[in-house]
Amino acid sequence: MKPAPFTLHRPRTLAAALELLAELGPDAKVLAGGQSLVPVLNMRLAAPAHLVDITALPDLDRVESSGAGVTVGALATHRAVEHDAGAHEHQPLLRQALTHVAHPAIRNRGTVVGSLAHADPNGEMPMILALTEGHVRAVSSRGEREIPAAELFVGPLETCLEPDEILVSATFGAARAGARTGFDELARRSGDYALAGVGMVLATDGDGAAETITGLSAGFVSVTDLPERLVLDEHVAGTPTAEAREVAEAVAAAVREHIDPIDDIHATADYRRHLAGVIARRTFTRLARTNDRPRI
Ligand code: FAD
Repeated sequence: MKPAPFTLHRPRTLAAALELLAELGPDAKVLAGGQSLVPVLNMRLAAPAHLVDITALPDLDRVESSGAGVTVGALATHRAVEHDAGAHEHQPLLRQALTHVAHPAIRNRGTVVGSLAHADPNGEMPMILALTEGHVRAVSSRGEREIPAAELFVGPLETCLEPDEILVSATFGAARAGARTGFDELARRSGDYALAGVGMVLATDGDGAAETITGLSAGFVSVTDLPERLVLDEHVAGTPTAEAREVAEAVAAAVREHIDPIDDIHATADYRRHLAGVIARRTFTRLARTNDRPRI
């Protein structure tokens, strides 16, 4: 199918883009990589009268990393972030999850920030923002605001953004010293949206045989309506990493009990609950066994 007719605007400055959005109101949509919006237009699930293409705006493709977090500009593609050594060093979950986002061709054009604005519960990036307790920066002609992940996502495919706002960047929290991170997902075919995915952060203290688990948090993809950070400390804290297997089933049971999975044509809620428990148990035991940092 082809999209309904629209007027394409391609401003060259952020100020001009914001002015356009303020003037056009809810009849306009921001266009970034187009990897979600264009299919939506082609299927006529949306028919905005105006598209404001932000790809000509300067300085929005930066990726900046430090101990405070990884800040990704609105035009940084999935692939740019996946291959950014600083981003990987400071928050390995980004690369670990991004290799599961669609196919390289889509990652070459789609943006991380666009994924957040799209707010798809099947998308990896909203969950990683929530799990790392990150935030986004939104600007409009009325001003600027910082929105924590916990407030950004208000429903499936729905954020708290106003129609005149542009997300200029997202900041993912940095991994803490001693934390191990892992990501896993189950999909019918490589590159498909997940049936269930998990991101995990395992905190430890001490070395060798004396190493102990101090905390565990997890987030899920394609399982819950809203991305969230599930804290599982009470099931694991104080357990020596060498004995992690003994509490792994408690972790899986806590996950199954806590989540309220979505039911759709791809999988039933019960099946997703089962899968979420399986990948949570597997990822936890793998992280306890090894520092799951892929090589740069
Ligand atoms: P666009 O498509 O341009 O925009 C998406 C939405 O966000 C629109 O509503 C737009 O108005 C809004 N938007 C974009 N940028 C901004 C901004 N800076 N400020 C305000 N609003 C903005 N994604 C996954 O996470 N996992 C997958 O496995 C996956 N598989 C895919 C498979 C296929 C075949 C395809 C076509 C896509 C897949 N995607 C997947 C989606 C892909 O990741 C998209 O690139 C991403 O979701 C959106 O980024 P974009 O830059 O393309 O945004």
